[in-house]
Amino acid sequence: MLKRNEPTFRESVDMMFNRAVALMDLSPGLEEKIRVCNATYTVRFGVRLRGDIQTFTGYRSVHSEHMEPVKGGIRYAMSVNQDEVEALAALMTYKCALVETPFGGSKGGLCIDPRQYEEHELERITRRFAYELAKRDLINPSQNVPAPDMGTGEREMAWIADQYARMNTTDINARACVTGKPLNAGGISGRVEATGRGVQYALREFFRDKRDVDKANLQGTLDGKRVIVQGLGNVGYHAAKFLSAEDGAIITGIIERDGGLYHPGGLDVEAVQHWLTRHGGVSGFPDATYSPEGAALLEEDCDILIPAALEGVIHLENAARIKAPLIIEAANGPITASADEILRDKGTVIIPDLYANAGGVTVSYFEWVKNLSHIRFGRMQRRQEEARHQLLLDELQRLDDYLGDAWSISPDFKQKYLKGAGELELVRSGLDDTMRIAYQSMREVWHDRADVGDLRMAAYLVSIDKVAASYRAKGL
Ligand code: NAD
Repeated sequence: MLKRNEPTFRESVDMMFNRAVALMDLSPGLEEKIRVCNATYTVRFGVRLRGDIQTFTGYRSVHSEHMEPVKGGIRYAMSVNQDEVEALAALMTYKCALVETPFGGSKGGLCIDPRQYEEHELERITRRFAYELAKRDLINPSQNVPAPDMGTGEREMAWIADQYARMNTTDINARACVTGKPLNAGGISGRVEATGRGVQYALREFFRDKRDVDKANLQGTLDGKRVIVQGLGNVGYHAAKFLSAEDGAIITGIIERDGGLYHPGGLDVEAVQHWLTRHGGVSGFPDATYSPEGAALLEEDCDILIPAALEGVIHLENAARIKAPLIIEAANGPITASADEILRDKGTVIIPDLYANAGGVTVSYFEWVKNLSHIRFGRMQRRQEEARHQLLLDELQRLDDYLGDAWSISPDFKQKYLKGAGELELVRSGLDDTMRIAYQSMREVWHDRADVGDLRMAAYLVSIDKVAASYRAKGL
């Protein structure tokens, strides 16, 4: 994907970091301590499959242990390599600091195309990989807690959790060794949708401040905005679904591995997703224009571009042709450092990855807390809250009876007001709060500091400041 003269993913992240620390007053030693990746473990292991031994290469990188456990997803893709996991681990450090989840940054990956394997084969491979990592404490509730990423999901997390539990039979907190598990294996409601949901909450917060909307030369709200999404996987699908179903955005383009779909009147996200699941691609989908050159759709006219697949898709060669005035980086590192510069010069507003896709780690944090506290959120308060609401409703009902035709309680008010918050409502509320507060901290720096011209720098400044404070508190 990367063109000549283009920095690698890790170099891109370092360049963005360097641009930020140039505006800060950190000692050179502390600056270097924060920038470098602490350790990367490479493992090669064999699994007997289809009558032969196949060798796999996996990585787990720990970028910063200023807080522990460290946290970050495990990716299954053929493109996985040391440079990539180290870049992703660094982003995790900055992301966790920005949204105030108490973790250092880590990331893992396995060099594999999961689509080439049967489910039972993937289970054996995943369990073996988990075993290799767990025996070195690279999976551990108090030291290193993975989560899903590209190519992995609830199923893989359940295998990892079970493998860890088998190896640590007396660890009462074993379930907290990994997040993104299915609900029946210690997961939390709302984790699957969390990253896409976070993208939606981020955009809502962006559109709440006219100054930000003006900077992107846009107007109004999310309603009617034309959106192009790249990657209809976990993150892209949920973001596109929520933005179209709940905020009135029009999904005009969807880009997948085998090409892109375009419909100026809006694509039916659910229908495209069903098609993708059934056919393994988007080609042949009715009611849209299909082009095998998916990446070209990134350059199509739209209001908001959401790259939600992989890194480096906006690079030196296509950056100048990107028309979207607003890009939200749902994927990690979709814009290279060189492309970032071209886009900034053009005035494109970029909501950066370390903030935009932080919904996943935020809800992972809630899941980890749930696992450690061994109780579902809302279990103690919900009915009590409903009983108190009932008291108020009874009083309102008396008023309603007394006033007769002059006033009455709105028909659906009772039902809405009575319902106490369950786990999903609490998770969404916690996620919304997190995304708003983190955005506001970036916005403040963006607007208040003359030397900060973009949201990415604002995000790095806020987050590096917090990481530096942690290191200083440790006496470094
Ligand atoms: P996923 O595997 O569920 O989905 C990725 C999608 O992108 C798939 O539908 C795949 O077919 C598509 N894709 C792959 N290559 C493509 C290409 N060249 N062009 C167009 N589409 C392509 O992965 P995901 O979990 O949705 O992750 C997507 C991105 O979001 C990654 O960068 C990941 O690091 C980031 N992210 C994910 C989470 C999470 O909670 N899953 C959290 C934070 C960040």
